[in-house]
Amino acid sequence: MDPIRLDPWGTAQIDDYSELFDLFGIQPIETVIKDIPHPHRHIRRGVVFGHRDLELVLRAVSDDGPFAVMSGIKPTGDFHLGSKMTAEELIFFQSLSNKAQAFYCMADLEAYADNGIPLERSAKIAVSNLADLLALGLDPKRTYVYKQSEETRVMNLSFIFSRSVTQNMLNAVYGERNISLYLSALVQAGDILLPQTKDFGGPKPVVVPVGADQDPHIRLCRDLARKHQSRYGFLLPSATYHKLARSLSGSLKMSKRDPKSLLTLNDDPEVAKKKIADALTGGRETEEIQRKLGGEPEKCVVYELGLFHFIEDDPHVKRIYEECRSGARLCGECKAEHAEIVANYLKAHQRKNRSFIDQARSLLAG
Ligand code: SF4
Repeated sequence: MDPIRLDPWGTAQIDDYSELFDLFGIQPIETVIKDIPHPHRHIRRGVVFGHRDLELVLRAVSDDGPFAVMSGIKPTGDFHLGSKMTAEELIFFQSLSNKAQAFYCMADLEAYADNGIPLERSAKIAVSNLADLLALGLDPKRTYVYKQSEETRVMNLSFIFSRSVTQNMLNAVYGERNISLYLSALVQAGDILLPQTKDFGGPKPVVVPVGADQDPHIRLCRDLARKHQSRYGFLLPSATYHKLARSLSGSLKMSKRDPKSLLTLNDDPEVAKKKIADALTGGRETEEIQRKLGGEPEKCVVYELGLFHFIEDDPHVKRIYEECRSGARLCGECKAEHAEIVANYLKAHQRKNRSFIDQARSLLAG
């Protein structure tokens, strides 16, 4: 079997996340879960499966000390469910303490490097993306939002870091890539370490919630933090890792590169219902076989919509799982139930998004 290769810019699928523990030194989330106050649904349900050094952040929470949570988005289009996962985790960590400061980067340079989106266009998209984040519950009073292309402190850090990075190091972490992607990886290291600079109160624990495929950025950044520790006093950034949200066809991680099977927070609720009607399930060939053998929720993208994204109530998710497994539930009615839940969520979210557009615009204007 091929070894797992994590590619932050690719669409790879990971079948067994526990392999990442030995391969890359990610720790199982179970090692710290008892110390996480009121764990978010992603954590309770094992969607967040791993971490690096989360203890540092949890200690800051229990000691009422300062810490930061850092994330961002490539403003290339509507907020899809993968972006929603990271945003919810950012908001969750921000909610753990009044001393938590959130940092959110609009990665317009990466959007240009990876997707060819001009900065003028990504600036418009960023307003809608930030309104989504506010609608999800971000507290703007304890958040620093910035555009990557305008934050000169990040640029300066990445230039400084570039002196200690060789082509061989980048090849080992990312494989042979376009120079613009290497550059954006260095800029991301600047983003992640920005909260620990003097202007933001100096060294402190920082957690970066990411999808598993983003670990190469975390490893590179931790390496750079170590190399520049004597000058800046950086603590190695912590990270949490979630499983990748699959596209509705089930084949790839949910990606803007696969729009037909992508669900976004701006989708027309009726269009979203149709997409769900076409989604991959873990159902059997016939109703009769399903009644006899039960379905396979582990393979089912529809089940995943509730588990990862849209059903907050744990007993409800458990009931769906058990009914599916026992054959008491059939895919048609199950899809219709999920489609209704998602459509209602989208209607409510889109109302909130519209009410936050002006605030998002003024936050991004600085
Ligand atoms: Fe998925 Fe529901 Fe079908 Fe089970 S019954 S396989 S959860 S759609």
